[in-house]
Amino acid sequence: MNNNMDDMDTDKFHDECGVFGVYNHDSAAALVALGLHALQHRGQDACGIVTYDGIRFHSKRALGLVDQTFSKKDIIGNLPGRAGIGHNRYATSGGAELRNVQPLYADLAFGGFALAHNGNLTNVNKLRTELVEDGAIFQSSSDTETVIHLMATQKGQRVVDRLTYALQHIKGGYSLIALAEDKMIGLRDPHGIRPLLLGKFEGAYILASETCAFDIIGATLVRDIEPGEMVIISEEGVQSMRPFAEKVGSRFCVFEYVYFARPDSILEGHSVYEKRKQIGVELAKEAPCEDADVIVPVPDGGVPSAIGYAQQSGVPFELGIIRNHYVGRTFIEPEQKIRNLGVRLKHNANREMIEGKNVVLVDDSIVRGTTSRKIVEMMRSAGAKSVHMRVSSPPTKYPCFYGVNTPSEDELLAHNSSVEEIGKLIGVDSLAYVSLDGLYRAMNIESGRDAQNPVYCDACFSGDYAVELVDREIRNCAGNILKAV
Ligand code: AMP
Repeated sequence: MNNNMDDMDTDKFHDECGVFGVYNHDSAAALVALGLHALQHRGQDACGIVTYDGIRFHSKRALGLVDQTFSKKDIIGNLPGRAGIGHNRYATSGGAELRNVQPLYADLAFGGFALAHNGNLTNVNKLRTELVEDGAIFQSSSDTETVIHLMATQKGQRVVDRLTYALQHIKGGYSLIALAEDKMIGLRDPHGIRPLLLGKFEGAYILASETCAFDIIGATLVRDIEPGEMVIISEEGVQSMRPFAEKVGSRFCVFEYVYFARPDSILEGHSVYEKRKQIGVELAKEAPCEDADVIVPVPDGGVPSAIGYAQQSGVPFELGIIRNHYVGRTFIEPEQKIRNLGVRLKHNANREMIEGKNVVLVDDSIVRGTTSRKIVEMMRSAGAKSVHMRVSSPPTKYPCFYGVNTPSEDELLAHNSSVEEIGKLIGVDSLAYVSLDGLYRAMNIESGRDAQNPVYCDACFSGDYAVELVDREIRNCAGNILKAV
């Protein structure tokens, strides 16, 4: 790799994000702001909106939450136009800088172009090196800019042709929305790893990462954009194209169902809440807890699967842990010291429901084990007779390279420890995870996971990476390259 790029590479790590776009509405910017607000769980570090008013583009990008930036009338008033796209970013520590906040904007030969991206590209280091050697001057360290530079290298006047050229060169798991002068474009990578859906509202077309963002404005769901599909939304309506030469099977991210998407969203026609509950049912079948008195979810992620677990096992469900909603997700805190503190700030035991009982905690995942360790300790000091833990995903053993912010392998508890060892480390009387087959059964695939045709991207559990990791680095959550695979 080009040495001069090392600095840039340290934060070139695209994370969990939410995207939202509106085409053909008088209040485009305000609708985008509302959509981003509903997608805030997908990224809390930065947000941005770009609109087009028929003559020029307008942009506002900021670090911080949507309601801190876009609730103000004067800001929305400065974003005129009937078309707009927006983005929420969940950056790693190194990447939380204004220059990386999206949507990115560029003046290309055909006119203005704004782009927002949810996911990660796996060959950007390679592409970027080639582009820089050919004279490109990058302004940010975001993966998204690579797409714009690839488009800029082409001669044609048609946006779609230039974008298609770029798409044929990038690899990864991503959904994109783009805004040009006369169209809004939405697309998903060939495997459809990240979500993107089409909706309608008062004659306008809407694109969003999740349907909860349609609900906030009262839009109706039209359909999921298909894996490998590009939709072009213009005055003429919606046109569908297939820009990718490669034909591959769908591999939607199963972790969206486990944790990431909001439970009130509908993805691929499935209620995320129902799927989460069903995982709890499978978990109860696979790993019952004989002497359980109470099933307690670790809020909020563990709630639907704990309901499923309780219903299947016939054991009462109680809110034995109360969460303080005014504290951000502990996971985003960059230092272990702060994470420890964060967990204590966030949860408290509901002693009445715990004292003298055999408690079964249900959580969606164990990553570093920080949350579980603290919560188990909390249950014991609230007087639990015994503490068991059931996890509604298989052990998280491998980092995600397709847009979910997971730490590197050495920080992933399950990468280096057996289930028994993890149980000891977090201090429970028993620990069990749902199996990969059980997870697939909860997704209505009765025969479990077919290794030849897995249907979902489950790389974080299986290590089976759907898209080639061309850059082949393992990076930690600050984006620093740790080692070659
Ligand atoms: P840890 O404390 O590191 O074991 O993190 C586990 C907790 O983080 C679980 O309660 C999950 O709900 C949550 N979690 C899992 N994956 C992610 C993620 N990619 N981003 C933010 N939070 C996560």
